[in-house]
Amino acid sequence: MAEDEPKAVEPELDEEDEWQLYASAGYASTGFILDEGATAEDENSDEPWFDGDDFDFGGNTVNWDAPPCPAPLGIAHVIKIGICDYCLHRIGGRRSEERGAEAGAVLRHEAYARDEELQSKTTQDLCPLCENLFEDIGNIVERVFDSLSGTDFSTIQFGIHLPKDLIQEEDRIRSRYGAPASYPLKSALVEAIHHRIRSSNEEVDFVKERPDIMVLVDGLTLRVDVDVRPIFLYGRYRKLVRDLPQTRWPCRACRGRADDCESCNGTGLQYPDSVQDLIGEPIREALGADDTSFHGMGREDIDVRCLGSGRPFVLEVKRPSKRNHPLDDLICRVNENASGRVEIDSFCWCDRSKIHEVKGSRSEKTYTIRFRADDLADEEMVTNAISSLSGVVIDQETPKRVSHRRAAKTRKRKVVSVDSILIEGNEAQFSLRCEAGTYIKELVHSDEGRTKPSVQSAIDRECEVLWLDVEEIHAD
Ligand SMILES: [Zn+2]
Ligand SMILES: [Zn+2]
Repeated sequence: MAEDEPKAVEPELDEEDEWQLYASAGYASTGFILDEGATAEDENSDEPWFDGDDFDFGGNTVNWDAPPCPAPLGIAHVIKIGICDYCLHRIGGRRSEERGAEAGAVLRHEAYARDEELQSKTTQDLCPLCENLFEDIGNIVERVFDSLSGTDFSTIQFGIHLPKDLIQEEDRIRSRYGAPASYPLKSALVEAIHHRIRSSNEEVDFVKERPDIMVLVDGLTLRVDVDVRPIFLYGRYRKLVRDLPQTRWPCRACRGRADDCESCNGTGLQYPDSVQDLIGEPIREALGADDTSFHGMGREDIDVRCLGSGRPFVLEVKRPSKRNHPLDDLICRVNENASGRVEIDSFCWCDRSKIHEVKGSRSEKTYTIRFRADDLADEEMVTNAISSLSGVVIDQETPKRVSHRRAAKTRKRKVVSVDSILIEGNEAQFSLRCEAGTYIKELVHSDEGRTKPSVQSAIDRECEVLWLDVEEIHAD
């Protein structure tokens, strides 16, 4: 494959940015700048352009000092070097009723009428400006629409990838012989594709950002990549049961490869269900999509419930056939599918930027936690000890249980408030509101002294956490 433009795509660019890089360089909004007066004058002038420096070009004499189009000698020159009718129209600099090849053909016939021998002087069949790419436009458009049959969309963005040497050669010829302000090849190709689609009455808008469909055409191989862009839904979920992971969790034994794994019965999953799939699968089916990605505002441990108004999330629906569906129906499908394990109250459509907003949010949260300890008989002492944590800034070293995936450091986190303390025999529970990023279980059992102070240190008894619920995520 030839070296194409643009050069190296930065690895940190996300998908969206990458596509933007390939998108046709500025759909040239400037039209042709024409000076018809000058053209007429040139046509009437008998004075030949200086032609003393001819040399051989593919067996024919080519005048390298030809003036640029729209001068007749300029047009004659580009015809000699084999320009196609599309490019002749594009760089010929003449206003016309016709478009594309038809308009170029008019210019060509005018030129043949001026010079009877011109036709026989043409040196080659392959247009040196476009390598006859314009002839493939019908074929390209057909393939794009074939691959989109059954897919809803209203906007498309086209990008064209051209070999660098073709672009350079085209630019050289166009800037030397083309009329001023001629369309560059890339924009002209994109424009021709748009025109072809419009003339076949397809109801579609062409956009430069956030399209439903991105099409990348490789001008060298004529490969056409059609990308149906994802759609995004924002909502909040409640997780009403324990032992349910937020996202798909690959099987530990086969690492998700599934084939013949006894441990996961070939599913590739450690847990058969997840919040992601309980919510995402009915939506994927309803919208005829390929897959989903789940972007939560943080996540609770697998054994932790998430109650109250729920945890904000963005569901990314990949390659959907339908881009619209009544939201009420989607909510019903989710709640029915999750049968009381997960619930959602509302949904709204959003765009990709909502993911960053959700991921970047640092909200305080309220929890209820229950633990067991020996000898909680002195209820007043225990209650006072737990209450003493209210308003305290604690030091938390990275918990042992996550140290394999988190950097070791000590964080300072504020326990905003503590209330609803309840003691029942050897068990106690209480609610607490904490700064984002507080490890709550560790705040109770101290994680072997890595969290200071803790409930364990305050009551001076070993504490075993029984369960934890997220009561509220205080996001807007
Ligand atoms: Zn051409
Ligand atoms: Zn497995």
